[in-house]
Amino acid sequence: MKNLNNISTENLIDWYTNIVNNKDHGDIRDNLLALTDDIKNRFDDYIDKFSSSELITIEDSLYIQNHPNLVSCYKSEGNTLKLLKKAIKDNQDNDLKGVCQYCGILKPKTYDHYLPISIYPEFSALAINLIPCCKDCNGKKKNYWKENQERGIINFYIDNIPDSQFLFGNVIFVSGIPHIEYQLLNPNNIINSFFFDIAKKHYKRLELLQLFKDTSTDELGEMIRMFKIYVANPTVEDLSQKLNTDANQLQMQFGLNYWKAVMRLTLSQSEPFLNYLINQINK
Ligand SMILES: [Zn+2]
Repeated sequence: MKNLNNISTENLIDWYTNIVNNKDHGDIRDNLLALTDDIKNRFDDYIDKFSSSELITIEDSLYIQNHPNLVSCYKSEGNTLKLLKKAIKDNQDNDLKGVCQYCGILKPKTYDHYLPISIYPEFSALAINLIPCCKDCNGKKKNYWKENQERGIINFYIDNIPDSQFLFGNVIFVSGIPHIEYQLLNPNNIINSFFFDIAKKHYKRLELLQLFKDTSTDELGEMIRMFKIYVANPTVEDLSQKLNTDANQLQMQFGLNYWKAVMRLTLSQSEPFLNYLINQINK
């Protein structure tokens, strides 16, 4: 889990006018062109609140009556929209291009409308409202982005991802098979409570803790197979050190709270698991 780079907030309205000008349907094009000044004002308001991290104060949309036309700016698969998506993707660090930052599991093959397209159709093609994410996270988030006047989804452009660990794991054995359970913790309140509150809602909405547990079981099976092939006669210390090194490498690439890194850290510190692993390797 790491911050993503938003594309420059300069001239974002140009994407809108390019998309609209390329529309084949004259009535829709005329309707959307007539709205350009209004949409530019809305974009400016968004950019202002985005830049000062006050998106929660954005006013309700006045454009519900134009909903189908405005949404069509995102649905039309014209060249401009493809270029817009490409610009957003190309702006990301290489390691992060291939992993959804919402979950850290799947490939980010879709774009989430952070302010939902169904509620704010005027932001359907606003580049800084589009966040690369996987299909599963996009589907679970749906129209959700806030509750009780507090944001409930981490915004990877503007929320500073803390440089401290808040995702922790715990090894449990069920019928002799190891599993890892995850939880969010804020030891010594080191994580800013504003961020931690959003993170708790984010993980709940996207069902991430259960997802990490389920995915870890598969990952663990694969990991044990690899150890069996490549490691001979290891000690508990050898295995612990190897897991810890792998965890550190993953944390450098994908952040301290990347679930695969937390998984390896947790395993490296669990004596019951390390003994289990030695038994598996020596089988
Ligand atoms: Zn995802």
